[in-house]
Amino acid sequence: MIKRRFLACLLPFLLSSLTAQTARTVIRQASIADGSGQPAFKADLAIQDGRITALGQVEEQQGDRVIRARGKVLAPGFIDIHNHSQQGLLEKPQAESQVSQGITTLVVGADGSGPFPPAAYRQELSQTGTAVNVALMAGHGTLRRMVMGDEFKRPAVPHEVQAMKALLRLTFQQGVFGLSSGLEYDPGFYSQTDELVELAREAASWGGFYMSHIRDEEDGFIQALDEAIEIGRRARIPVQISHIKLGNTRVWGRTEEVFQKMAWAAAEGVDVLADCYPYDAWASGLSILVPSRRFKDRQEIAEAFEKIGGAHNVLITRYAPDPSFEFKNLTQIAKQREISEIDLFMEMMGNGGAGIVGRSMNPKDVEKFYRHPKVMVASDGGIDSRHPRMSGTFPRVLGRFVREKGWFSLEEAVRKMTSMPAARLRLNDRGLIREGFRADLTLFDAAKVIDNSDFQNPDRLSKGIELVLVNGVAVWEKGEATGELPGIQLVAN
Ligand SMILES: [Zn+2]
Repeated sequence: MIKRRFLACLLPFLLSSLTAQTARTVIRQASIADGSGQPAFKADLAIQDGRITALGQVEEQQGDRVIRARGKVLAPGFIDIHNHSQQGLLEKPQAESQVSQGITTLVVGADGSGPFPPAAYRQELSQTGTAVNVALMAGHGTLRRMVMGDEFKRPAVPHEVQAMKALLRLTFQQGVFGLSSGLEYDPGFYSQTDELVELAREAASWGGFYMSHIRDEEDGFIQALDEAIEIGRRARIPVQISHIKLGNTRVWGRTEEVFQKMAWAAAEGVDVLADCYPYDAWASGLSILVPSRRFKDRQEIAEAFEKIGGAHNVLITRYAPDPSFEFKNLTQIAKQREISEIDLFMEMMGNGGAGIVGRSMNPKDVEKFYRHPKVMVASDGGIDSRHPRMSGTFPRVLGRFVREKGWFSLEEAVRKMTSMPAARLRLNDRGLIREGFRADLTLFDAAKVIDNSDFQNPDRLSKGIELVLVNGVAVWEKGEATGELPGIQLVAN
């Protein structure tokens, strides 16, 4: 009796796993933007066992799951090379805000904050599963803090660099794709170029790349860019400039200098690419406004407000001591409290700082970056990030930059979201629609796709992404998450 009941319970599961293996999905007559940037073409596509098995004209067979996609665009699933869902994935494995944008692979561990050891994080992730594939970066900041502890406010001495290198080696043994740094943040801020070169050499020996939130995105951006390129040249490693920007009013309009630097680097054999999120406001901590870190210097604070175009351009998004500050700007809060903006800043820094969104980029610069062929799309967002990029990045590019403004073709946009990041990660079976490639796919309505999130409602989901498959399994369909968790943890080649 018990046995029979056990079997009866098991049977549907056995059957479904059998059909899951044999059932084929056929997507008919989609307009295929295959990720290469070449003009889209109409074709059918068949998927079986998580891979694309046919592309062209596909005869329907009995038992096929058929999706009629005439008039819709089928693209490789989007790969977000700079994403902060490290914690969010554990809490929200369905990653609704991500898959609803068409994202199928997240790269986490950016800005120097990669998990250590990667294997422990992987195990945590595998206990819940994930809707999306996950790739990890090693974090320079993580390693630096492990080795130097609270003594990080100085250059590392040689034996400390060697210790970091040993830890880095371990992360590569556990499959990370590269080394990330966050040089405007603790503890990376205090590192010197030689330390980074030494670590980047180790990363290069594993075929990894160096991804950097560079030391300065404002007045000193040229020197900061030079440093990243120098690391690439000396360590012979590909370089990814994270969320490229000209971050204050004084440096607006200098995109050509950036492109010239990138071209000179290429001429010297240094492979430099960048990513950019499609907004003119960034998200970070309050402390980042005063790069000198003299948080009690009224002069410096006043200058910081001037450079961002006024304290009203600083929106508080997270402030635990008084959540009523959240989603108000510094000018509003100061008025309410009847204190000066400078006093307010000092008070908030004294209470541990705050999460902020700073509106300090010029939309024209964002356009120039986006139009450049070496700049790809990445969100710098992630689950629960409190910036509209967390749920709007990819549809915003497709809806506003491609359809409404016509800055570049849809195919080029798809390339910037798929094969470009895939190549940087050296993924050889994702990022393009090809027979034999993994069936990470995004089907969308190019006439309707649009972001809906804004600075007050960063988590409002995008529209127009109709179907998202991860390893051949639907994770987003008909405007909602399916609950399936077919994502896998990617390991570097
Ligand atoms: Zn960053």
